Amino acid sequence: MYDRSSSQSEMFLGIVKIRLPPKHGKLHDTWFKQSNEDIRGEVRLQIMYCKVEHRTLTSEDFELLKVIGKGSLGKVLQVRKKDTNRIYAMKVLNKKKLVKQQEVQHILSERNVLIKNSSPFLVSLKFSFQTPEKLYLVLDYVNGGELFYHLQKETSFNEERAKFYTAELVLALGHLHKYNIIYRDLKPENVLLDGTGHIALTDFGLCKENVSFNETTNTFCGTAEYLAPEVLERKGYGKAVDWWSLGILFYEMTTGLPPFYSENINVMYKKIMQNQISFPSNYSEKAQSLVRGLLEKDPNRRLGGGPDDAEEVKGHPIFYNINWYKLYKKQIKPPFKPKIESEADTSNFDPMFTNSTPIDSLPNTSSAPLSDTLQQNFEGFTYTNEMSTQVFIHYYMIYI
Ligand code: AMP
Repeated sequence: MYDRSSSQSEMFLGIVKIRLPPKHGKLHDTWFKQSNEDIRGEVRLQIMYCKVEHRTLTSEDFELLKVIGKGSLGKVLQVRKKDTNRIYAMKVLNKKKLVKQQEVQHILSERNVLIKNSSPFLVSLKFSFQTPEKLYLVLDYVNGGELFYHLQKETSFNEERAKFYTAELVLALGHLHKYNIIYRDLKPENVLLDGTGHIALTDFGLCKENVSFNETTNTFCGTAEYLAPEVLERKGYGKAVDWWSLGILFYEMTTGLPPFYSENINVMYKKIMQNQISFPSNYSEKAQSLVRGLLEKDPNRRLGGGPDDAEEVKGHPIFYNINWYKLYKKQIKPPFKPKIESEADTSNFDPMFTNSTPIDSLPNTSSAPLSDTLQQNFEGFTYTNEMSTQVFIHYYMIYI
């Protein structure tokens, strides 16, 4: 709960946990105690349920509002679900393109990762469905924009702000690693900010599942600036690649550029393999030590590269004042809050996307349909994770 009565600032009041009453159509009216060390109070909630029928969805169930992102395989649209009026992000992918670019496995593992893994710092999948031509992933709409967008606007962040995002990312990556998933594509474009300024990791298309500690995988993939030396060496790599890219990201957030950046990709790869990191003169000791630890070229000696994985990173002295439990519970106030007018606000997304017309183009009827064998790849893609009930909060009041 936040007190937003002042236009200048907002105050974090605390958290109320509610156990949702199971009966449909009955009004529940209860006072709840909230738990914050500094402020005591109670909240009155009046909650009533209405059941939502589950059925397979189609794109007709959504109103297309804006384009918010584009990838090589499709686009991401902001949509409104017509029956509930809720806003979501809908990723639309073309099956033929997926097959042609050999990306079928990637999208299937993206769906699996999204379904199996809920964490406060990963975007969550609400629905997936398909037509003979397309796949649709409907995700929670995260309205604060990409970290990339904010970093471009501000050039760099101060250490505290970079540290906050990094700490939340340690929890996000640690969560994936716990389930033996390597993320493999950490970069500012894939880190979104929510309306309050917490991070949400998106785009799980390059995730590799089922890689436990000491196991390795080989596929050469990721984004050039963020590739770890062991990926470039093509000798097999493990979870530690994500800690490397976190080091690159921290350096980029604090200085404005990745440490081994070059316009010439081969020069960049050579620098990644060979160069030491140089720091601006005002870079703090702790931040240098974090970057050096994460950007250790030998993955076995890298911070996070041991069996304790994220716990090792959490133990670094730069995080001495982070209460990880509170961070996980989103009880630590983010250092920056994106400007948001409403739930559906798209002002934090690039106008290059948001100015284009949101259409879900019709299938090209002149081209041959996908064969039955190829269609079988997408069997079982459909998924629904809408709560079977909607909660209406009629009224609330806080007293201190
Ligand atoms: P992706 O193909 O998953 O990398 O998505 C492309 C872009 O769409 C991202 O970089 C974001 O700008 C935007 N996007 C993806 N998922 C979401 C989401 N859940 N909420 C808001 N924007 C999103």
